[in-house]
Amino acid sequence: MITDGRSTVHPPGCRVCGQPIRAFFDFGRQPVSDAFRDPADRSAEFHYDLAVGACGGCAMVQQSHEVPRARMFHADYPYRSSGSALMRDHFEAFAHHLLDTELKVPDPFVVEIGSNDGVMLRTIAQAGVRHLGVEPSGGAADAARAHGVRVLTEFFQEDSARRIRDEDGPAVVIFSANTVSHIARLDSVFRGVDALLAPNGVFVVEDRYLGDIVDSTAFDQIYDEHFYLFSVESVRNASRRFGFELVDITRLPVHGGTIRFTIARAGARPVAPAVGELLAVERARGLAGHRTLDRFAERTRHARTELVDLLRRLRDQGRTVVGYGATAKSATVTNYCGIGPDLVPYICDSTPAKHGKLAPGSGIPVRPPAAFADPYPDYALLFAWNHAEEIMAKEHRFAAAGGRWIRYVPRVHVV
Ligand SMILES: [Zn+2]
Repeated sequence: MITDGRSTVHPPGCRVCGQPIRAFFDFGRQPVSDAFRDPADRSAEFHYDLAVGACGGCAMVQQSHEVPRARMFHADYPYRSSGSALMRDHFEAFAHHLLDTELKVPDPFVVEIGSNDGVMLRTIAQAGVRHLGVEPSGGAADAARAHGVRVLTEFFQEDSARRIRDEDGPAVVIFSANTVSHIARLDSVFRGVDALLAPNGVFVVEDRYLGDIVDSTAFDQIYDEHFYLFSVESVRNASRRFGFELVDITRLPVHGGTIRFTIARAGARPVAPAVGELLAVERARGLAGHRTLDRFAERTRHARTELVDLLRRLRDQGRTVVGYGATAKSATVTNYCGIGPDLVPYICDSTPAKHGKLAPGSGIPVRPPAAFADPYPDYALLFAWNHAEEIMAKEHRFAAAGGRWIRYVPRVHVV
């Protein structure tokens, strides 16, 4: 491991199995995706090389450079899981599902890795079930506590997992949504799960699915926080490496294509047919193979050209374009495509902590949602496309007033 003072560079080898990595895309220098800056801040902005490759040994798709985690998940980390009604419903339904199934045992204990503002655990807490969220971002953890959720403000790793086990006993469910892919040290996560999970317990992981990212050319799902892009094959291989087995999968429509992996100790539970079925599909299409990923890279380059051409054309025609949703994903779009305030003068976003700040790298100002209608722009560039239906329904007056949405996933088009 080499530290260059900016980010941690690893020799060309898989972070899971050590086999060679084949790079398939390089986005160039990128900022930390959630590092919104005060306009008065003149300090140098942190950048790192965002490049992705696939392991020839275990098929894990991963980044080649790791951003120090304290730069991403600190007290001011702005993302809140409960910001979307769709996601609130999604996690509430899953909590009820757990209460009706895995938690129907005497005195169950549930742990969530990366519990954010407690969007899932608040339902568990209301049911009076013992639980613990493990969340390093202090602001998010405080928001969870305000909803009666018990939270440990730490990173989940082997030593914290052992301490939890000593104090609370084994967990029958360890859940994690959109977090495990953020952790480069998967070995430490699995060793922590090994220390904490009950013999017949389940480790349930929800994350973006590589198959959906490739199918929809969702290149903006690749940013600092998404260190790994999971597939059935890569998660099955990683699980086996650490003494576990992938026993079930469920594909979910949220976040533009998510998959729920259910992992148990090796031999503890039967493997559901869905695992083998999707694994066969992945192998037939060569999901982590160079042909598939090189085509994805080609479509990504094409999307950049199309999007920048469209924005320049609209600017030259005197049309107004505003960004909608200052998402972490949008940092990849603006910085990879070279979109600055000349093409998108501001982005409207509902997160108060981002208001009055500049988006990372691009320096595009972020304004509150009320600015969107004051006055409506001619076009809105939908950065939060994973919540498209919810947003378009909320902003129906924009379309009624003649406004048009610009989307770039699965291809650049105007709605
Ligand atoms: Zn590997």
